[in-house]
Amino acid sequence: MHDYDLLVVGSANADLVIGVERRPGAGETVLGSDLAVHPGGKGANQAAAAARLGARTALLARVGDDVYGRLLLSSQHAAGVDTVGVLVGGAPTGVALITVDPSGDNSIVVSPGANARLAPEDVAAAGSLLCAARVVSAQLEIPVETVAEVVRNLAPEVRFTLNPSPPAPLPAELLHACDPLIVNEHEARVLLGPRAPADGGPEDWARALLRLGPRSVVITLGAAGALVVEGSAPGSAREPVRVPSVPVKAVDTTGAGDAFAAALAFRLSTGDDLPTAAAFAARVGAVTVTRHGAQESFPTAAEVAEPDT
Ligand code: ATP
Repeated sequence: MHDYDLLVVGSANADLVIGVERRPGAGETVLGSDLAVHPGGKGANQAAAAARLGARTALLARVGDDVYGRLLLSSQHAAGVDTVGVLVGGAPTGVALITVDPSGDNSIVVSPGANARLAPEDVAAAGSLLCAARVVSAQLEIPVETVAEVVRNLAPEVRFTLNPSPPAPLPAELLHACDPLIVNEHEARVLLGPRAPADGGPEDWARALLRLGPRSVVITLGAAGALVVEGSAPGSAREPVRVPSVPVKAVDTTGAGDAFAAALAFRLSTGDDLPTAAAFAARVGAVTVTRHGAQESFPTAAEVAEPDT
């Protein structure tokens, strides 16, 4: 019996947002709007999104022993996430300093802080938590070595999903564990490097990614939906499957990728096959882009449209 549908291993950041008329140059000071503080970080976002959908969710992360760490813990509790795996201390909480100009363009400085101190030893110490979930999900706002330690500690029946954001070179043992590897077009381009198809569509990109070694690949395509491809026998691959997007009026795409990854992992934990889980995740992503913000925009299961309704 598993205690959780999903364990998310990842980052937790406080997003500090100030609106500005224009960005300051070197040595210059400008006045901005009132400060807005939002819970963020891909790990915390994905855990909150899954819990909002009804997944029994736990988070393995590290925050500082400070006001932002407490804010992140309380927002995770409010979403229904079990924070038994959230370690406190060792460095200040990760922070993203965000200025937004009147055209909506962002400039962001990230201080990884405690996220960078989530160490392989922390994963080894959390062994029982890793075995308590059907699916374990990670991203790359924590050290790659820590994520690699996660896959080394997984029981064989536990499914692992990775959203390699921000993209970085991945060791083979990590790539081989991904089922699926979830990427957008930018992440696909970085992971493939010189192996990227010179031209061709997402299907070609998905096949090229599958050759890197993951068990399956999902490419998210924004308003165009997503694409799924699963490996089968070694050296061969099933045909890529298109996941249609849901037509909506998008107002803010922040958090869509996190909502998609979380919803996909949750539905895999309930036994859906990959194309079915991705179709649900696309509906969750579509709701997310109709609302402002990140964690504030994640829907409950009741708010996600059923197909053809
Ligand atoms: P993020 O901006 O959060 O990093 P991402 O690039 O990782 O996002 P996207 O491909 O933008 O991920 O979005 C994830 C999923 O959300 C898409 O695959 C799609 O299903 C859904 N989605 C995103 N934008 C839209 C949109 N404008 N209309 C409908 N669905 C959308």
